[in-house]
Amino acid sequence: MRNRRLSYLLGLLLATVGAFWGQARGELFQTSTIDALIQGVYDGDMTFAELRKHGDFGIGTFNGIDGEMIAFDGRYYQITSDGKARPVRDEMRTPFASVTTFSTDIAIPVAVRVTLEELEQRIDRALPSPNWYYAVRVTGRFESVRARSVPRQQPPYRSLTEVVKTQPMFDSRDVEGVLAGFRCPEFAKGVNVPGYHLHFLNREANAGGHVSGLVLTSGKIEIAILREIHISLPSTASFGRANLTVDRTGEVKAVEK
Ligand SMILES: [Zn+2]
Repeated sequence: MRNRRLSYLLGLLLATVGAFWGQARGELFQTSTIDALIQGVYDGDMTFAELRKHGDFGIGTFNGIDGEMIAFDGRYYQITSDGKARPVRDEMRTPFASVTTFSTDIAIPVAVRVTLEELEQRIDRALPSPNWYYAVRVTGRFESVRARSVPRQQPPYRSLTEVVKTQPMFDSRDVEGVLAGFRCPEFAKGVNVPGYHLHFLNREANAGGHVSGLVLTSGKIEIAILREIHISLPSTASFGRANLTVDRTGEVKAVEK
């Protein structure tokens, strides 16, 4: 009798642990699609109060594409087109963002000087497969970081391909800070950005942007494996009207490089 009760309790315990682990599988939560953003769907209906519920880490932008968003350790920042960063307010809204609750699955120290391309190759070699999504965080010291931020737009909106032609670039030298972003598989095209998409915030949390180049001298790479995807589509008229039937691979490459 006692043994039976013991094995029942043990079974219950294992089921609880199993359910917890099941929930702990990394999930990418994103709002809207990259192809909608590219063609000028710059106003979403999701507030940052809502987005925060789905993650403590991620990247994205703001309504009117008013700058670049970076989040880590539960703190969200907006980097406007002057390159300056400030905390995000809950009532602000996003037309496109990807977040996750970050939990490190793979950690790699970096002790040699690497460019952005070399950093991405190093991460690629550490990944178990190119077929899953990954959240990537790099904390370190940088010899240089080239970042940009999109300037706020007024309707009627131009496509992102047009907007990025005039976007400001910022070069920082000898900075410490955090890179945050994702590596999406090739099959993510149309929905998110295939390959790497990283944003930067300096240690002082007052400057950063969308990363287009860097030299890392030392630091730590942390990777979270994501095998659950939750896509929340805006209920806005502009999303409903968007033409999502065209292959925009070339435009996404031009905009995100
Ligand atoms: Zn970006």
